[in-house]
Amino acid sequence: MKSIRTRFAPSPSGFLHVGGARTALFNWLYARHTGGKFVLRIEDTDRVRSTKESINAIFEGLQWLGIDWDEGPFYQSQRFDIYKEYIEKLVQTGHAYYCTCSPEQIQQMREKAMAAGDKPRYDGTCRDKGLAPQPGAVVRFKAPFSGTTILKDIVKGNIVFQNSELDDFVIRRSDGTPTYNLAVVVDDITMGINTVIRGDDHVMNTPKQILLYQALEADLPVFAHVPMVLGNDRSRLSKRHGATSVTAYRDMGILADALINYLARLGWSHGDQEFFTRQELISKFDIKDVGKSAGIFDPVKLQALNADHIKACNPEQLAHLLVPFLAEAGIETRADQYLAKVISTLNTRSKTLVEMAAAARFYFIEKVNYEEKAARKFLKPAIAPALESLVSKLEKLSQFSEKALEEVFLQTMEETGLKLGKIAQPVRVALTGTSVSPGIFEIIDVLGKERVIARLKQALEFIKTRPQ
Ligand code: GLU
Repeated sequence: MKSIRTRFAPSPSGFLHVGGARTALFNWLYARHTGGKFVLRIEDTDRVRSTKESINAIFEGLQWLGIDWDEGPFYQSQRFDIYKEYIEKLVQTGHAYYCTCSPEQIQQMREKAMAAGDKPRYDGTCRDKGLAPQPGAVVRFKAPFSGTTILKDIVKGNIVFQNSELDDFVIRRSDGTPTYNLAVVVDDITMGINTVIRGDDHVMNTPKQILLYQALEADLPVFAHVPMVLGNDRSRLSKRHGATSVTAYRDMGILADALINYLARLGWSHGDQEFFTRQELISKFDIKDVGKSAGIFDPVKLQALNADHIKACNPEQLAHLLVPFLAEAGIETRADQYLAKVISTLNTRSKTLVEMAAAARFYFIEKVNYEEKAARKFLKPAIAPALESLVSKLEKLSQFSEKALEEVFLQTMEETGLKLGKIAQPVRVALTGTSVSPGIFEIIDVLGKERVIARLKQALEFIKTRPQ
């Protein structure tokens, strides 16, 4: 079998949205799965809508997702000579012709066709005139009047189009630029693309593209048109449904691995498995397993899956990912051993990196800020003797082993006659400032002797000085 060659061909008129990212992902996964090649092509022939910012946003989104390309990026705007050559070839072989009908004439034809109850279409005025190239002329493809064009689609099955439904579509505009259908076909032929995976909004363009392949005597690629990504009300995903750009999810603290797992599962399945590592996706993804029904993008489900990926990711690796989120929260730190230990107490309790950064704050502050309610409830004079007892015993410990800590707490419980529950909450508030946190012994282990003793002393000071 020939080596698979896929491509992602975005039109750069905005950021990389989740629908586009899923198309890129399917192409990338299929190339990686089969040991083929994945090509990136920027479809920037629309000079007005294409922007440099958007191109950069697409690169940024793909790079963050870890979708790397083997060839490109190719820019359609730099390939006009190639399109010109192919357009001339189509004219020479009698498959296309120059047309000088004015926009007004085209409008009249349309109106006439509609008045007669037909589809608006070009009436073939210039089809057999054999016009020479001339300024202002467009080039039209000579579409067949009869017969059918069949799209054999991996996802959709066979779709039969009546050629009589097509008219002589424009392949070169009067300003010399190629139209989308022409450029895409020429690119896919010259780039050796043999598998076209894209959104099913392109199904209606495909018969025109198939006719172009045939006219150019090129092999057809395999087509796979994947259903659109929808919002939870089943309409096409848009801003109304919340964030749609890939980088917005990055900034919310979603892991790239979680987003690609989630996007892959929108339309593709492998039994009822939900959680996939990147490697598993590559080894299990097959375009044949993409279903016909549209995927519904649900940010709540994405967060739940993200929590699973956070759990599965090792703390050292997560540390690197968390550093920018900590910085955003005003905590400057490096991805060191301390941070990895901090993370190992939070990774089963955080749905996003933003949440995790907020929960990690107390590990990094010099002085604990107490939540008003927690301090009122737990930092009362009655608990001072227990905290004092803990301080004096902890000061004597040379190292904080689990066994030694247990012993200290047991002795304090005996001395004060308080149960562990009664001591643990005030200690938690003293160490973290809040009444919700990871397990008390975990926290003590991470903070270490000096910080723990300093924080217990701070709490004692607070109890002593606060107005009762
Ligand atoms: N540039 C087109 C788009 O962004 C995709 C073309 C294709 O995949 O054939 O929708």
